[in-house]
Amino acid sequence: MTVYLDHNATTPVRPEARAAVMAALDLEGNASSVHQAGRNAKRVLEDARDQVARLVRAKSGEVTFTAGGTEANNLVLKGAGVSRVLASAVEHSAVLKVRDDIDLIPVDGNGIVDLGALEQMLQQGDVPSLVSVMLANNETGVLQPVKDVVALARRYGALVHTDAVQAAGKIDIDFKDLDVDFLTLSAHKIGGPAGVGALVMKDGTDIQCQIAGGGQERGRRAGTENIPGIAGFGAAAVAARAGLEDFARLAQIRDGLEKKARAAFADCVVFAEGVNRLPNTSAIAVAGVANETLLMALDLDGFAVSAGSACSSGKVSVSHVLEAMGVAKSLSTATIRISLGWTSTADEAEEFIKAWISQVRKKVPASEFAA
Ligand code: PLP
Repeated sequence: MTVYLDHNATTPVRPEARAAVMAALDLEGNASSVHQAGRNAKRVLEDARDQVARLVRAKSGEVTFTAGGTEANNLVLKGAGVSRVLASAVEHSAVLKVRDDIDLIPVDGNGIVDLGALEQMLQQGDVPSLVSVMLANNETGVLQPVKDVVALARRYGALVHTDAVQAAGKIDIDFKDLDVDFLTLSAHKIGGPAGVGALVMKDGTDIQCQIAGGGQERGRRAGTENIPGIAGFGAAAVAARAGLEDFARLAQIRDGLEKKARAAFADCVVFAEGVNRLPNTSAIAVAGVANETLLMALDLDGFAVSAGSACSSGKVSVSHVLEAMGVAKSLSTATIRISLGWTSTADEAEEFIKAWISQVRKKVPASEFAA
């Protein structure tokens, strides 16, 4: 049986979400229909909207369902009515690839956005702008100072979007307190099904619909709603909210794992170790141990981890996140990401670190072992 430590790629579906999906599959109606069957579907849709809103302390009417985090990012970057987008260099490709005119905000060695550089960029050109800075990074878990970004952006009249796909369900999020205009969520990162997400939009904010058709989602996103997926998202949001405290346990397991890795190899690097990070994520490297072969060896041993972001082609490429942090290629190509989640146990982490140490030992000269 595989030990699954790749929760930032996707999470196993929570039993509550599975049950909600199955129950919704039995509904007959279209949520736009006025008859009883339609009203039943509509009720499930609106209950889920409430549940998702509550996960990030937003209002129900601020949630627009989409077919995933990628679509929500596309909707805001293309539909916010801005002529300029400034995004951190460590955003997910679901932000960086949406437009070809994005200005990249540099980051420091820990991957934290450079606020001084952002201010300079905002000073140049006074066109309607959107600043997009993620709440937590998918590869390193690093948390961004989004509230500081908002304070800065407001001084220059810019809108702010945060991709909270990785942060949701792992840390407490308060949409109102963050004060961003837009926030992206994805169901499959919190124990819900893939292919469902949401864009949370501050009350009164306008967005141009990018998928034209019917008037669903108050004209913001056309297409008959995916009621089973959305119901699963809602149930996952409730479970994720209730499970937030469990992430303190995961932080302990993660820290223990990193300690053992460093004790085994003197030159083991733990990225962004000293800054605010998600409690579940660890990006580690031992120079000279190529992640591609290490991942394959660990897979054969029964452990699922990854090399940063999961690439759709299944190929491991150099991480643009580590590159933006100034990490040398020799180290970034040695980096693996371990991401714990709601199914993870201390025993699994223990088994993993033993296997990792044994595989890395086969690949580095004995002189580099820690005493
Ligand atoms: N944003 C971040 C930070 C992600 O990690 C991901 C998925 O890996 C996405 C967006 C895309 O979300 P989805 O897979 O729901 O399209």
